[in-house]
Amino acid sequence: MSLDTGLQESIWAQTAPPVQFPILENKIRAEVAIIGGGYTGCVAALRLAERGVDVVLVEGKEIGWGGSGRNSGLVNAGLWLNPSEIAGRFGEVYGNKLIQGLANTPSLVRELIERHSIDCDAGRPGMVKAAHANSALHSIGETARQWKNLGAPVELLDADGIAKLTGTRRYPGGLLDHRSFTIEPLAYARGLAKAASKAGARMYVESTVHTLEPLSQGVGVRTNRGDVAADRVIVATGAYDSKLVRGMERGFVPLGYFLFASEPLTANLREVVLPGKMALWDTSPSLLTLRYDRDYRLLVGNLGWLPSARSGHKWALSVLHSAFPQIGNVRFTHGWSGTLDFTDDHMPWLARPMANVYMVGGFNGRGIGPGAYWGGILADWAMGLPDADLPVPVTGPPNIRFRSAKRDIFGMAFRISRKTGQLLR
Ligand SMILES: Cc1cc2nc3c(=O)[nH]c(=O)nc-3n(C[C@H](O)[C@H](O)[C@H](O)COP(=O)(O)OP(=O)(O)OC[C@H]3O[C@@H](n4cnc5c(N)ncnc54)[C@H](O)[C@@H]3O)c2cc1C
Repeated sequence: MSLDTGLQESIWAQTAPPVQFPILENKIRAEVAIIGGGYTGCVAALRLAERGVDVVLVEGKEIGWGGSGRNSGLVNAGLWLNPSEIAGRFGEVYGNKLIQGLANTPSLVRELIERHSIDCDAGRPGMVKAAHANSALHSIGETARQWKNLGAPVELLDADGIAKLTGTRRYPGGLLDHRSFTIEPLAYARGLAKAASKAGARMYVESTVHTLEPLSQGVGVRTNRGDVAADRVIVATGAYDSKLVRGMERGFVPLGYFLFASEPLTANLREVVLPGKMALWDTSPSLLTLRYDRDYRLLVGNLGWLPSARSGHKWALSVLHSAFPQIGNVRFTHGWSGTLDFTDDHMPWLARPMANVYMVGGFNGRGIGPGAYWGGILADWAMGLPDADLPVPVTGPPNIRFRSAKRDIFGMAFRISRKTGQLLR
């Protein structure tokens, strides 16, 4: 069950340049068909089209309808977890490949934006990961140590360092990651789709795929009005489909994430609240994010489904007041939410659910950099990259036990934490 708002509710839909693609209405053929028009699908389509592969992308709603059009726009390296946890989970060989690949994802995103001249307000490098409490300082120190050992440009911050960079005294310490930056997510998704189309990918929207079936040669991709007969299929539906591929009903726990955007802040406030447009996320279990958009609207994000405007605005204002007591009465003009695909181990997975069908999942709420990375990997895999050269073994989708109960329990915990200001913050 998804409780997403429409994409139009998001601030990103107000500024992203439009794209137009047709509905799939015929029976067509392709070497590769891609299902899903988010970052993963669009990057895979771009990569394949640039190589001269005959590729078709089929999106059920519109480009960026899923997480890619409605996220917080924080482009970060790696996973939520420390590099050592990744190596521990996948072993040295796979683990090191994955760590290296994901460490470079902000550069990958920046390179796509520049090469295809995507106007998505890509910000200056540098973002703060703040410890929500003293108890989180040790773990942040360990993260900094591990990334530094790998040569990554990160620095530890004390409370004064965070206050200088962000204007808030709310945090006892944290980490500045010079690789990270912010983007306008929907503009980036649409820019990737345009680039893929320009490179020769045939793109279709409003064409939900209801069936995937084996053909004597390849795979049939069926929508209500048209079909693709493809040699190979990439499934890039993220947290937005759990029916198309068998086993996906238990492949992830769908958790909501919501954002509120304020009216543009005054010039005086801009100097003291996240000066220089610094963005911040913190280590609280409800994953608070704070950033500006291009017009200096302040965005506040948190795990959970979008609360009512009344209680949500009250909550967002209380968060801002605790971080920036000088902020006064800020009005919120937009609120929206989307779905994340959480897994028990917070790790990505690859699957080949049928012959010639390739799939990735388990982004766990970090998918901008990973979408670019996995889109490329899926394209290469579908074109013959051996399993042994992949960055993770082909084991998915996972079989998550008590998926519905977990979804409900987390949802309830996030609601309680907002009401009480306790528990998860
Ligand atoms: C509110 C929110 C905030 C987030 N913040 C951040 C952040 O700051 N930084 C970060 O790195 N990540 C963030 N994420 C996560 C990130 O947005 C996602 O991991 C990423 O966008 C996933 O990209 P994707 O291409 O794999 O999937 P999606 O972008 O979800 O795309 C999947 C697409 O598949 C389509 N689809 C589904 N089923 C079918 C079907 N049967 N037929 C045809 N099409 C279908 C959907 O309509 C959708 O467009 C956030 C996510 C949300 C929801």
